[in-house]
Amino acid sequence: MSNATQLIHNIPVDPLTGAVSVPIYQTSTFVQEAPGVNKGYDYTRSGNPTRAALEQLVAQLENGAVGLAFASGLAAIDAVIKLLHSGDEIIAVDDIYGGAFRLFDKVYQQYGVKVNYVDCSNLEQVFNAITPRTKLIWLETPTNPTLKIADIKAVAKLAEAHRCLLCVDNTFASPALQQPLSLGADIVVHSATKYLGGHSDVIAGVVVAREREIGERLKFFQNACGAVLSPFDSWLTIRGIETLFLRVKQHCASALAVAQFLETHPEVDKVFYPGLASHPHHDIARKQSKGFGGIVSFTLKDDTEQAAVSFVTHTKLFKLAESLGGIKSLVAHPANMTHKSIPAEKRRAAGVSDSLIRLSVGLEETEDLINDLEATFRHIEKNRKEKQQVINA
Ligand SMILES: *Cc1c(COP(=O)(O)O)cnc(C)c1O
Repeated sequence: MSNATQLIHNIPVDPLTGAVSVPIYQTSTFVQEAPGVNKGYDYTRSGNPTRAALEQLVAQLENGAVGLAFASGLAAIDAVIKLLHSGDEIIAVDDIYGGAFRLFDKVYQQYGVKVNYVDCSNLEQVFNAITPRTKLIWLETPTNPTLKIADIKAVAKLAEAHRCLLCVDNTFASPALQQPLSLGADIVVHSATKYLGGHSDVIAGVVVAREREIGERLKFFQNACGAVLSPFDSWLTIRGIETLFLRVKQHCASALAVAQFLETHPEVDKVFYPGLASHPHHDIARKQSKGFGGIVSFTLKDDTEQAAVSFVTHTKLFKLAESLGGIKSLVAHPANMTHKSIPAEKRRAAGVSDSLIRLSVGLEETEDLINDLEATFRHIEKNRKEKQQVINA
């Protein structure tokens, strides 16, 4: 049976009423027959049937033993870092999600957790960064916004040899394309706000552990620290996941067409998309994932902030906004948005140049999206020519 079919039938029919949609158990507490004698639930922070349905669903999707749902992607990441102790070290991908960087740098550093940032698409750099104190390797693959790819299986082998955990933030790929636990990772996290939810209507996070023991420790933190996903948001996330495979298929098809269009456009300098043969890690991406995702980044020949800002403010279908993975196409200018807090030199060195533009390719008709980009290029071309005329006059 295909994964898509399996997913749809993994969502349980309510045994009590036959409801085909998972009921929303919007309750804080559960009546007990006698102290400690209950039907499996006693208080919604510790467990809730709607959240449990989501948690089981994501555990199955990621091939893990335990799934847990949190109030945001960052709350999910936070729970994983709580597995560490003062003095422990993390090796993290150098173009890590900004919010994770802030959490590591501004929160966990206070507690004595040290983070070494390296280019994880380069195995040698990961190897060289390992010390006896390394307890966790943190990957994102593809990365944001330059879509670098790390070889999950190879990094998992390094992690195992050095007895440290490997956690993969699988937000960009989604389990429809990539299952890190099957490639040897110990833990997967998601910002379910993105592709899992898929409709830009919920903030949510999930963690899936390959082994029950680690999963139980994470579950303890989920209850002890309390950043749980609400019953209604759990339902919304299930509702989103129901169409995950169908959506991701279309995201991938349109993103590839957009990347190919951009690659041949005279205004474009570089295109970053793992599905292009020109991508430096195309072969690894092909080996470890079933598709290349819905995010495409590119730089302009006119490598100025002004040109990029002009572009991102003139698209019509691609809406200017943070976030990604929803049905509506979005455009972002990382230098001014997600990566604004990084010093310009450091940002440029990481490949995020002043004109880099990131697209989250949505579910509109592919042709309409390409037409929107084409019209925007015509607009900035016209602007440049007019400016040139003023200069020449
Ligand atoms: C958005 C995002 C997060 C954070 O998730 P929230 O749901 O916004 O807390 C973490 N990792 C990646 C890769 C993301 O894109």
